[in-house]
Amino acid sequence: MKALLKLLFKLGLDRLLLLLLGWKTVNVFYHSITPVYDPEFKTVALADFERQMRYFKKHFQVLPLGVKGKRRSITISFDDGFLNNLTVALPILIKYDIPATIFVVGSIEKEGNQAIQLRPWADHSFEKIESWRMLDPGTLKALASSELITIGSHGYDHVKLTKIESYDGLVNNLRESKKTLEKIIKKPVKMLAFPYGDYDDYIVSHARRIGYTHFYAVTPNPKAGKKDINFRFGISGKTTFEVNIINLVKFWLWK
Ligand SMILES: [Zn+2]
Repeated sequence: MKALLKLLFKLGLDRLLLLLLGWKTVNVFYHSITPVYDPEFKTVALADFERQMRYFKKHFQVLPLGVKGKRRSITISFDDGFLNNLTVALPILIKYDIPATIFVVGSIEKEGNQAIQLRPWADHSFEKIESWRMLDPGTLKALASSELITIGSHGYDHVKLTKIESYDGLVNNLRESKKTLEKIIKKPVKMLAFPYGDYDDYIVSHARRIGYTHFYAVTPNPKAGKKDINFRFGISGKTTFEVNIINLVKFWLWK
């Protein structure tokens, strides 16, 4: 099957599939990019990432997240705020002149917290695992200084926002993450990617009031309005290049 797909792509199947997208602007997102694929941490290997960037650049207009293209376009973003977004991914983004948005958790200011918040079963030994090292204020600043990079908020501590029971808890979470990131990068933070893609109308209305203007989930919440919520397809490091492209087209045909 893998070999057959490869052959079909060589014969141009992928270009036919991309035609199905019409003039859509599609959003894709990543997490950790590592020199080699790390199955435990669901990373995307550097070589795969580079091949995807080269392909997107060739077959799409690559735009900053939040900008709608006039022809078939794509945007790139990253969730959680891994250090390798700076050390591994950024050099590739620069090489192909590709803009990207990095959604970072606000608790970045509290050293050593994020890895554990992202995996509640983790302990402090996680901070030493290369695939799992997170940005700190200094490295976030370095990343944000690239003109290709926009920083967005991924909540304060990566909890599901719909699970926060009190009004104050929700508002503080949204406000603190925005404030902390803005203080570090000295630029406004207006984009919000919901941790776990979890949202509802109540969260969106308060986030908007606090100053967020762009909202990103993964799939629609059937119990919430779809208006102004943007969706993103997660590229998988586990599967082949061809399957990722097929899944991307499938995902966006339903949107
Ligand atoms: Zn996340």
